[in-house]
Parts: sequence; structure tokens; C-alpha cells
Amino acid sequence: MTVPDLDLHDGATIPQLGFGVFQIPPEDTKEAVLKAFETGYRHIDTAQMYGNEKEVGEAIAESGLAREEIFVTTKLNNNNHRPEDVRSSFDESLQKLGLDHVNLFLIHWPMPGEYDGDYVSTWKTMVELRDAGKTTSVGVSNFEPDHLERIVEETGQVPVINQIEVHPYFANDTARAATAKHGALVEAWSPIAQGDVLGDDTLQAIADDVNRSTAQVALRWHIQRGDIVFPKSVTPKRIESNFALFDFELDEDQMARISQLDRGEDGRRGPHPQTMNVLPE
Ligand code: NDP
Repeated sequence: MTVPDLDLHDGATIPQLGFGVFQIPPEDTKEAVLKAFETGYRHIDTAQMYGNEKEVGEAIAESGLAREEIFVTTKLNNNNHRPEDVRSSFDESLQKLGLDHVNLFLIHWPMPGEYDGDYVSTWKTMVELRDAGKTTSVGVSNFEPDHLERIVEETGQVPVINQIEVHPYFANDTARAATAKHGALVEAWSPIAQGDVLGDDTLQAIADDVNRSTAQVALRWHIQRGDIVFPKSVTPKRIESNFALFDFELDEDQMARISQLDRGEDGRRGPHPQTMNVLPE
């Protein structure tokens, strides 16, 4: 199974399918990531907040894979937005991961109600890290259209990625369109809504038609919309089946029927980025 590489606007490429490690306890992370590598995944999405960068690093070291074969993303925690904390926490991330650079570093949440509303100096510091070669690319996560507009206008630096909540119950097309307008790509987090969409009748009917699981159908919908996904699982069989997305296709009608499942704001599961201002304890 070959995962397509997508072009980022800074010249780098990113595998369209990866493996997410949110809510994988540290003690289970190495095993899950090694299983993902064995299955063929070459893109890992972690974060300072997830508390498992060290174990992701152990899996990378143990995998025997060459560094250039793997795409690694981590994200800045919400309490590290001040420039000096961006720098020091990023160095800690590299140390935990056992790497001398990551492929992608993201601001996890804009936190517009903290830091006097200043996520611009945070973004400038991210760009400095890129210019120093410590991360190949820089991007953001959970940025609404106005947040994107502001960092681009005030710095002239466009993120390569905006990682946002997207799944069949929350198509999030406004934030997706704003991201595309700047030439950035969308990463769809919680692509199966942490399992909530899997019992859906429409997805089940399509899954029966294409002889796949509802998870595979939902993930394939994202892929055909052009977004990047990294489903999370600690279950070996699911890690395998979530990877099997490139030997079938949904037709136009099936794509449209899934897109019609969108519930707008009612479908959002996570916090709204405009009001998500919670600092870790
Ligand atoms: P997902 O939508 O990937 O769903 C994960 C859940 O679905 C787990 O409970 C898993 O169970 C279950 N599952 C996975 N595959 C299957 C399957 N084939 N059949 C049935 N159940 C399945 O949720 P996440 O929230 O983890 O999102 C994915 C990734 O996105 C995260 O790991 C993280 O990297 C990123 N993310 C980023 C956020 C941000 O703010 N930037 C916020 C949230 C997520 P089990 O593990 O028991 O198999």
C-alpha cells in the first residue's frame, strides 16, 4: 500500500496518512508506534501535551528506520507560547524524541484569550526555529480564519498546515476554505470523531457497497477531499485496517452522501478555538 506524499508550499512533502498518538498512555506508546511502523505508516503526529514524545522517540530508535523515511510532527503546548518558552520547550521536545530536527512543528491552539491575545510573537518564534533548521516546516493547529489572516498579515509567513477538527459530522468547511486560501493544507483531527461516526447508517450502507468498514469509508472520504489524516488506535487490527485506504475509491455520489452528514457547529466535539483558553495545570 503506497501512501501519497502531498506537497507543502515550502517545498517539503508530507505523507497524507499518518498515525496519531493522542490519549495513548506513555506505557503503551512505543508498542503502538512500532506496530504502526510495521504496518507501513511513516508519519507520526504527537504533541508536547500528549506526554508521550519520549516513547515515540524510543519507537523511532528501535524501528531501525532511517530518519529521512519518517515524518514527525510535534506541537507547542498551550503554556509555552512566550518566545523563550517556545525555544526551550522545543529543545526539550527534540531531546525527548531523540531527534536533531522534526519535520513539522505546530502551535497547538491559538489561545486568543491568553498572552494578551498575542499569538503573533509565538508564530514569529516558530519561524525562527524553522530558519535555524530545527524543524523543516512550521504550521498551526485550531486556527480560525481570523487567526490565520492575522499571522499572515503581520509576519508575511504562511503556515504550511492548519490542523483542525474535521469529520463527517463536522465538515468545518469555513476553516478548511480559509486554510486553502492561504495555500496551506488541512490536517483533519479526530477523523472518525473518536469512533462516534462509526455506527452511522449512511456510512454503513456505503461500507456495505464497497465491502469496507465504516472507519475505512470515513477515512477515505477525508483522503479524497485532499486532507491529511492520522487516525489513532492502540488495537493492532485497527492500526492495520486504517492503513488500507488506497485500494478502493468512493464515487461522487458516495462522497456527496457523506458530506451531507455535516451537522455544522452541532457536530463539533472538541473545544471552539475562539474560546479554548485553558492552560495546563
Ligand atoms: P480518532 O478520530 O482517530 O479516533 C480514535 C478512537 O477511535 C479511539 O478510541 C480508537 O480506539 C477508535 N478507533 C480507531 N480506529 C478504529 C476502527 N478502525 N474501528 C473502530 N474504532 C476505531 O481520534 P483522535 O482524537 O485520536 O484523533 C486522531 C489524531 O488527531 C490524534 O491522535 C492526534 O494526533 C490528533 N488530534 C489533534 C488535536 C488538536 O487539537 N490538534 C485534537 C485531537 C486529536 P482504540 O485506540 O481503542 O483502537
